[in-house]
Amino acid sequence: MTAPSPSAPSAKCPICGRPREALYRPFCSRRCANLDLQRWLTGRYRIDQDDPDADEDAE
Ligand SMILES: [Zn+2]
Repeated sequence: MTAPSPSAPSAKCPICGRPREALYRPFCSRRCANLDLQRWLTGRYRIDQDDPDADEDAE
């Protein structure tokens, strides 16, 4: 059996879960890339974003 679509189901943006964009991989957009960067920079500090992003960090 050959799979017609080689896209892996796990190829999603770790921030919002949307399909990744090659330009911003492993994220889907520049916004998500920035969000991740901010998270990384601020560490455990919480950023107040008006975004109801309920992500699940499997850490
Ligand atoms: Zn995203």
